[in-house]
Amino acid sequence: MTTDRQIMDAALAKARDLGATVAGFVPAARLVACPSAVAEGRAGFHTARGSFIVLGLYHDPERPEIDLWEKDRGTPGDRMLARIGGALSRWLADEHGRAAETVPYQITDGGIYLKDAAVLADLGTIGRNNLVIVPGYGPRIRFRAVWTDLEPGEQDLPHPESPCNRCPGYCQLSCPQHAFPNGRYDRAACLARTDADKARAAGQASPADHCRICELVCPAR
Ligand code: SF4
Ligand code: SF4
Repeated sequence: MTTDRQIMDAALAKARDLGATVAGFVPAARLVACPSAVAEGRAGFHTARGSFIVLGLYHDPERPEIDLWEKDRGTPGDRMLARIGGALSRWLADEHGRAAETVPYQITDGGIYLKDAAVLADLGTIGRNNLVIVPGYGPRIRFRAVWTDLEPGEQDLPHPESPCNRCPGYCQLSCPQHAFPNGRYDRAACLARTDADKARAAGQASPADHCRICELVCPAR
């Protein structure tokens, strides 16, 4: 009999076949009171049943167009991740008879805290730029998730070492919004820049080219 862990291992390989750069999983129960849910006081997709498969897609700085944001459409990169999630969900249902669905991106739409999920899935560590640093790709990875009723148990992977321990903090030093007062990320200050990027793009009737300075200056690979 095929175990849930074996199906999960096959699903992670399938996700990479479908185009995900990296893939990992976290039991859903571990996200119920994850640090961001506690800090924000908002649960998002909230279940202790099953698991989340976390899908990561490399956003190559040489292909900035996949990160351009359009109102009501998001970014091409996020649509690519949604297509991978949809195909993976269908594969889990068709090949293994398991329940699976792509999780919305936004918490307000019923999404999960993707950065927490990626760290709990041992895909990377949170950097001083408040982004997940993934070995081999640095912070240039975007995430989506698929929920599935698989119960593969816990995994015991080594935690990646943080590259921030040996970096002077180029991300924080380069932020035009000074969004790291006292070394801690200030979401409101960063969002002010995001809103300005959107307003400028709307005025030009073009997709928004959001600030990625703290991501692109990071030397971590
Ligand atoms: S620039 Fe340096 S401190 Fe900032 S996230 Fe990258 S490695 Fe960490
Ligand atoms: S995205 Fe831009 S404004 Fe926001 S924290 Fe990073 S560098 Fe600062």
